[in-house]
Parts: sequence; structure tokens; C-alpha cells
Amino acid sequence: MASPQKKIAVLGGGFCGCCALVQLKEEGGFELVCFEKMDKPGGTWNYREESIEAVASIMPTTVINHSKELGALSDFPPPKEFNNYMRHHELYQHFMDYVKSKDVLKYVKYNSEVMEVRRAKDYKETGRWTVTVKNTISNEVSVDVYDGVLLCVGHINRPKMPHYPGQDLFKGDIIHTHTLKGVEKYQKKNIVVVGMGCSGLDAAAETSNVAKTTVGGFLVRDKRCPWYLSTRSGAHVIRRVGPHGYPFDYTLARRWIFLLMAILPYKWMSYLLENIYLDPQFNRELYAIKPDHHVLYKDPVINDHIHSKFISGSVMQKPDIERFTENGVIFKGDTEVTEADVVIMATGYTWKFPFLEEGIIVKEGDKINLYKLMFPPHLEHATLAVLGFVLPFGPGFPIGELQCRWAAQVLAGKCKLPSEKEMVEDDINKRYNTNILKYARSDKVSVRVDYVPYCDELASQFGVKPNLLKILLTDPVLYFHLIFGPSLSYQYRLQGPHSWDGARNAIMTSKDRMLYPITKRSNPEYHENIFIKLMKKIFKFIFY
Ligand SMILES: Cc1cc2nc3c(=O)[nH]c(=O)nc-3n(C[C@H](O)[C@H](O)[C@H](O)COP(=O)(O)OP(=O)(O)OC[C@H]3O[C@@H](n4cnc5c(N)ncnc54)[C@H](O)[C@@H]3O)c2cc1C
Repeated sequence: MASPQKKIAVLGGGFCGCCALVQLKEEGGFELVCFEKMDKPGGTWNYREESIEAVASIMPTTVINHSKELGALSDFPPPKEFNNYMRHHELYQHFMDYVKSKDVLKYVKYNSEVMEVRRAKDYKETGRWTVTVKNTISNEVSVDVYDGVLLCVGHINRPKMPHYPGQDLFKGDIIHTHTLKGVEKYQKKNIVVVGMGCSGLDAAAETSNVAKTTVGGFLVRDKRCPWYLSTRSGAHVIRRVGPHGYPFDYTLARRWIFLLMAILPYKWMSYLLENIYLDPQFNRELYAIKPDHHVLYKDPVINDHIHSKFISGSVMQKPDIERFTENGVIFKGDTEVTEADVVIMATGYTWKFPFLEEGIIVKEGDKINLYKLMFPPHLEHATLAVLGFVLPFGPGFPIGELQCRWAAQVLAGKCKLPSEKEMVEDDINKRYNTNILKYARSDKVSVRVDYVPYCDELASQFGVKPNLLKILLTDPVLYFHLIFGPSLSYQYRLQGPHSWDGARNAIMTSKDRMLYPITKRSNPEYHENIFIKLMKKIFKFIFY
């Protein structure tokens, strides 16, 4: 008789939730259900006009920060016709094509909000979990017991709102970028944007097109429409368009560069990146946005428009706000009030899993105790994992997918976790101690990861990390691509469980798919003279 299927609850139907369903279905042996509180799948990328507390929110103009090949799913290369940086609706469509091709949406129960997750009464013996779910339409509450639970509810959805002296006096509006949708209603207003992360720069660049003024980490100033943006620490801004017009991450997210990062002191690598890559394009000192941290110590900010806003005088940097007044703000070092109708806080997000039994995810100060950022180490059974709770320096999708694949292996009983002591000492403490030296402190400092090393770490857990030595001996051309080419997710389908025959070809043809949408035809570079090609490669190697 076949052994009974394990019942698994996937909580949240965003990217990670849907991807987890795909991987669990691929592994087989599970009875699946996914609870999604909204009426559609896709989470962040399911665009809504309204913003909802605890559900990620994007702007109508949001463009993904990683290019399509870097962010590709490991057995589902994006079509060559797709743009390198997809707009949010294109990305959503692509992701829906993926989940539909894998036929997993049938497991998703919509309008189903998870209210509580607790260890079941027989947890000690079975590792099971009790999950309480409310139907948000009928308010009906259901309770069921599961052999495994995957938490995929996102963590970029609870706005952090700072409080400045005098803020209560302010007569204008204060919003968070979480609620920023179209900018039409800001026409001819004076706007202050606080914060210089991706969403801060997006907000400043977008609003400065219509507003009277924008101030913030930058001061956006134009005779007709001055805008201000305020920042505490400045930022390293990277354009999506990199050297030669290639996507910047296609050029930079390469294994050999991450190898150098592992060998050389972080400061040196930052110094090289800042001085060889960033400053020749846009000298941060010249524009007075040089931050007080090195580029690899905090996510560089991706924005394509702010540079021209600076050079056209539409945006200028301002320091942090000292205090609010009735009709505006006073910036640090200023004596005059800068008038403002609206202050947009681009001040990031905090995290919380409010439905989860107390003591499952343990936090000591800003240290979050999760083995490989997924498994609570102190639990007796590896039957609960958190997915997507990472802040990568690189694309998030391949990381999310690898987490889902490993979690499926663990739930299937094919991979075991080490002892609690090993998990805490060799991973959690080590990662935390490294991170606090490497990255700026925040309540999410524990979950910061470097893209390639963390992917490799996850892949090694279940045998899908490419065996580079074997590949060097048997397939040197592929080896060259893996080391010197962009670090693509397809490499994690070359070997191990659920390997894919198309993986090698997907790696070798990635450049065609990257080049094609630029001109919407095959790229002439392939007919170039070999000498020119070689010279270009040497130049690229030296300068980029
Ligand atoms: C503005 C913005 C831009 C971003 N840009 C990028 C980018 O360019 N590249 C990148 O890699 N990442 C980016 N991200 C990160 C983004 O979070 C990931 O791309 C990815 O969508 C995360 O997927 P997820 O499934 O973990 O979370 P989410 O997409 O947040 O999905 C979580 C799902 O869980 C559901 N949910 C929450 N609570 C409950 C509950 N109690 N019960 C049931 N369901 C629940 C939500 O409704 C949602 O559908 C961006 C995020 C934001 C907010």
C-alpha cells in the first residue's frame, strides 16, 4: 500500500507561495493547500490600485530591479522577446505563465487569511501544525492540522514610519511609499521625500515630473516644480543600463566577481566597484550624494532617472529633517522652513508574522534565529520553514526558488538538518557576526545575503550546486560560462534532484535572449571579426 501523502499548508500565494507549490508538486508525495488572503495570486506583483496593510504594494510605474535572465526561474527561461527589465505587469504575466504551465493554481484558496499557526497537540511525536484560517468574504473560520507548513507571506509590507519633532503640527499630508500609487494628485504641490532607497528615488523621480517642488534625500528643484528628497546617509545609485547598454546585473553578477569578494577584503571590493564602475558614470562626490558607507555594505539603489534629475537641477539632495512646522519642514543645518504640502516617507519596512505561535521565530536584539534564514533551529521537527525572508544583494527570485526546492526535499524527508548547536553556531551566529561587520545595522541585518554565495549554500544542501571541477574536466566551455558569465539559476538544474536536460542550453543561449529585445532581432555582434571580439573581451575584463 502506498504511504499516505503528507498534508502541507503553504501560507501566502505570492511568488514564494506559488513557487513552493511548484516544487512540492514536482517532488511528489504531498497533499497541498495554499491560503492566500487576496483574491488573486502573485503577491507583490499582483498590482492593486489600493494599498493594503501587510500586503506588498507597488506603483503603476514599477519596473523590476533585476534583469530577466538573472531573475529567471531555473527551468523556465523567459522568452527572448521579453524586455530585459520587465514592467510589473509583464513580470506578473510571465510568472502566471510559469505557475499555469506547472498547473498549481488549483491548490490556492483565495480570500483565505491565516489567523493562527500553532504546534499541534501531538507536535512532539508528529511535528504537525494547527492552522486557523478565516474566509475574508464569509468570515467563516476553519481549523485543520498539517504535517508541514511553509510561511510565504512576504516581509516588505509593513511600513516603518519615523516620527520627527513637530510632526503633529504639520497641516499637510504624510504618507509612506507603501500607499503611493499614481502621482497625478501631486500636481503643483510641494513634496518632501524622506529616504534614498529604491522607493525613495522612484518617488522623487516620479513626483518631480508633476509637482511644484520635491525635497528629500535629494532636493528636487525646478523653477516651475521644485522637489526635495532628504537622506540621512546618501546612497550609491546604479542604473539598470550597464556598460555597453547591457543590463548592469548581467555584467556584474558573475561568479568570478563573487569569488574575488570572498578573497579580497570587502572594503577593497567596494572601493574597486565604486571607483571603477560607479564614479566614471556618475561621481557621487561631485553630486554630494556620497554615502557614509561603502557600496557593498548596504543595497545600492537602482534608479535610471535621478541622475538626469540632478543634472537638470530638478532634484537636489537635502540632509535629514530636523523638525516639522505647520507648513513644512526644517532640514538639518537649515534655518528656514522648506514649505511642503506632502511628505512621502520612503523609510522602508519592518517585519512580523503576527499569526505565528510565540517563540517559533526567536529574535535576540536584531539577530533573527533562522537556520539558513529558513528553519527555526530549536524546533524538534523540521516541518516549518520561512521562505523569501531574505534581502539579497542580487535578484530575489532564484533565491526564493532554491529555498522552495530545498524545503520540498526537507519535508519529503530526503534532507536532514544538523543539530540545533550546529545550526546556531555554524550558521546563525556566524552569519550574524559577519553581517553586522559587513552591512549597515537594521532590524533585517540578519537576513542580508550575497547572491551567488547564498545560492551556492542553499544548492549544496540538496546536491544541486554544480560540481565545477568535474565540469572543468568534462565540459570546459560550460565551465567558462559558469565562472566568467552571468550567474544564472539554470546552473542549479545541471545535476541533483529534478535536474533539467535543457539547463546547459539555457546557460549557453542566455546572451541571445538578453540581446534580442534590445533591437527585437538577432544581434549582429555574432558576426564580428574575431580580433575585435577578443579586444572587446580584454577591455571588458579590464574596465567592467
Ligand atoms: C516595491 C517593491 C519592489 C520590489 N522589487 C523587486 C525586484 O525588483 N526584484 C526582486 O527580486 N524583488 C523585488 N521585491 C521583493 C518582492 O518581495 C519579491 O519580488 C517577491 O515578490 C517576494 O515574494 P513573496 O511571496 O515572498 O512575498 P509577497 O509577494 O509579499 O507575497 C506574500 C503573499 O502572502 C499573502 N499573505 C500575507 N499575509 C497573509 C495571511 N495572513 N494569510 C494569507 N495570505 C497572506 C499576501 O497577500 C501575498 O499574496 C520588491 C518588493 C517591493 C515591495
